[in-house]
Amino acid sequence: MVDLKGQYEEIKDQVDSSIQNIIENTSFINGPEVHQFQKELEEYLDVKHVIPCGNGTDALQIAMMGLGLKPGDEVITADFTFAATAEVIALLNLTPVLVDVDADSFNINVEAIKAAITPKTKAIVPVHLYGQPANMEEILKIAKEHNLYVIEDNAQAIGANYHFEDGTVKKAGTLGDVGATSFFPSKNLGAYGDGGAIFTNNDELAHTIRGIVNHGMYERYHHDVVGVNSRLDSFQAAVLKAKLPLLDKYNSARRKSAKLYSEALKSNENIITPKIIGEEDTHVFHQYTIRVTNGKRDELAKTFQENNLPFGIYYPIPLHLQKAYLDERYEESKFQVTNKLVKEVISLPMHTELDEEQIAYITCVINKVV
Ligand SMILES: *Cc1c(COP(=O)(O)O)cnc(C)c1O
Repeated sequence: MVDLKGQYEEIKDQVDSSIQNIIENTSFINGPEVHQFQKELEEYLDVKHVIPCGNGTDALQIAMMGLGLKPGDEVITADFTFAATAEVIALLNLTPVLVDVDADSFNINVEAIKAAITPKTKAIVPVHLYGQPANMEEILKIAKEHNLYVIEDNAQAIGANYHFEDGTVKKAGTLGDVGATSFFPSKNLGAYGDGGAIFTNNDELAHTIRGIVNHGMYERYHHDVVGVNSRLDSFQAAVLKAKLPLLDKYNSARRKSAKLYSEALKSNENIITPKIIGEEDTHVFHQYTIRVTNGKRDELAKTFQENNLPFGIYYPIPLHLQKAYLDERYEESKFQVTNKLVKEVISLPMHTELDEEQIAYITCVINKVV
């Protein structure tokens, strides 16, 4: 699905020497690389505060802890996402309220958010799935009207631009009260191990979060709140610092591959290719996900398997049907889109090193089966 070797070749000298340096200096934790990467990411995203942490799941959890959400508070999020999004809500004894998504963007449905709001609702967590931001214009309006926090799960959309109706352009992850991202190796900005970060423009929230990631300490050995231990290590920061200047190039390469895929599949009436809502730079194609509408998705997956072609099914089961997240408030009729998508979606190989020949071969196999 991903080929990370090519990216390494390009940054090898810098990465190798930084890693050697960290070993020589034994600055494994909180080395200068961490602070440098933090500053450079703040600049890239045009956001006041980046707080690095251990992984994307921690980033989401810490963002929610920072906002002071209380047990029993309801948090609305998408039914069609990776489990981490709902998991951290449940772990904090908040109540995840899963809602349906849109078929064309795969992202949280705005009307479903409105219908799910109760007096207990405190936050909305839009997930920018597959690399394309959710409908933030509307989500921010709803949040303002009902006095709700917006926490963006930006694990899949780092570098994506969001265009507001008034012409303002901002980076995904910096649009709500707080954003969370992951530097898992296969993400668009991937480390060589685990990593994550939290983004916010709110000074007070940033201060609170900086303490939470470090055992709730604001002054050494004074623990004001219950925190966690979650940090980005110096090795990972060194890799990310080398890759950050190339992120836009990486994302353009992904968009180019997406275009080639869509071109080769467009005349197949049983396939729906991904739709870019609005400007081209809004989508960074963490995944290139098609919908197979004639019931042949599993047959296609089997053919891929037999031919040693990688693929992914993100995600095969709606979260509201997962044992861990069952809730009697859910009615099947309210999840029609997710219930359909889980049977139709298949994600194709997507990374920065794909070439035209590989795409031609993959799409040829797809057109034959479907
Ligand atoms: C990857 C991912 C996460 C979790 O990130 P980790 O770094 O693996 O903890 C959370 N949400 C979404 C949508 C993701 O894709």
